[in-house]
Amino acid sequence: MKPYNYLIIGSGIFGATFAYLAKQSGKRSLVIEKRPHFGGNVYCESIEDINVHKYGAHIFHTSNKEVWDFVNHFVEFNRYTNCPVANYKGRLYNLPFNMNTFYQMWGVTTPDEAMRKIEEQKALVSIHGEPRNLEEQALRLVGKDIYEALIKGYTEKQWGRLCTELPAFIIRRLPLRFVFDNNYFNDAYQGIPIGGYNRLVNALLEGVDARLNTDFFAHREELSSLAETIVYTGPIDEFYDYRLGRLQYRTVHFEQEILDIPNYQGNAVVNFTDREVPYTRIIEHKHFERFGNTVYDNPKTVIYKEYSVEFKDGMEPYYPVNDEKNTALYNQYKAMADQEENVYFGGRLAEYKYYDMAPTIERAMELAKKVLKE
Ligand code: FAD
Ligand code: UDP
Repeated sequence: MKPYNYLIIGSGIFGATFAYLAKQSGKRSLVIEKRPHFGGNVYCESIEDINVHKYGAHIFHTSNKEVWDFVNHFVEFNRYTNCPVANYKGRLYNLPFNMNTFYQMWGVTTPDEAMRKIEEQKALVSIHGEPRNLEEQALRLVGKDIYEALIKGYTEKQWGRLCTELPAFIIRRLPLRFVFDNNYFNDAYQGIPIGGYNRLVNALLEGVDARLNTDFFAHREELSSLAETIVYTGPIDEFYDYRLGRLQYRTVHFEQEILDIPNYQGNAVVNFTDREVPYTRIIEHKHFERFGNTVYDNPKTVIYKEYSVEFKDGMEPYYPVNDEKNTALYNQYKAMADQEENVYFGGRLAEYKYYDMAPTIERAMELAKKVLKE
């Protein structure tokens, strides 16, 4: 008889959610985490009394009421709505692409004028059939001016690849609307946990055995012997010792600055969409939790400049690169994973999918429904 039903590798949103659901079903789990803290990429640290999202800005959004109720059961969420601003060569544009953006770009003031302008723009480029890559998809969606000012430079910086080499679906994440609405998401529910994401993760892990600074691969045999089943949330290629080759990831280097001013850029997220600025965006964390002018209550601010870089050993893998080559390699690893009897793979890295937090929770819930009744 093994001491645990589940060995859960990784304490991110997937591992923590599964651990909670397993506990609710009366199962015993051991969560191991190689980092010195729990929470994976949603981990926050308080700096100058500001909750800093250490691995990049995280805004929770979903239309799934079950998921929204689930997270709100553990921690109260504020009513933050993400409204990033794009800075292109010193001029500011609202995102996502909406009437404000069209006004700023072309001076058009009605939806009709904006639609006509976009049709005109699309006519400047001839694309037939299904868009084969991100460039074609973007041109098909918004035409030439917006593609060149707000998409091309940002995307090529973020992914380190040409827009013609990237899959079309990446840009379909962004809404396009003919109303004055700067909400970056179309979802019914949105917000940030009051007090930061650690409160959510800690609540999920409460009463579950968990170890920090423990890398599965450093003690593979010993740790595996502790549980009947493994739930793995790390990179799938690493699980198989890269035997079919390495999957590619993008990662982000964050340059932190603590400034002696209360309000640096007036918004949580400002994207720098031209190629010349080396970083992709600046995050000013205190705006995630401000109401109105409370930003001035704290005389300091913390900003992160985000530099997008190709993943190398020793870095944190963040974004799976879902192009054709990597997808084909992932499918080979997935075929191996499907053969495993007592190992389940879940989350952004183990499934090599560009999941946000809410879909990650959905996936953990699906796995729990499937396996926990056994
Ligand atoms: P992770 O958070 O990566 O957790 C995996 C954990 O496993 C990590 O803690 C890792 O240390 C651990 N681990 C890996 N290998 C081992 C091992 N061998 N032994 C022990 N532990 C191991 N989503 C949103 O919904 N909204 C946003 O605004 C948003 N912004 C994002 C911004 C950035 C820069 C990034 C990178 C992601 C963003 N996301 C956002 C996505 C969000 O971070 C993910 O959906 C979520 O964190 C996925 O959780 P996970 O548990 O699958 O993975
Ligand atoms: N994007 C862009 N310009 C922007 C913001 C985003 O071209 O100002 C593109 C970029 O290719 C990015 C995609 O839209 O990868 C999706 O953006 P999102 O903000 O969802 O990416 P995230 O940072 O959340 O992964």
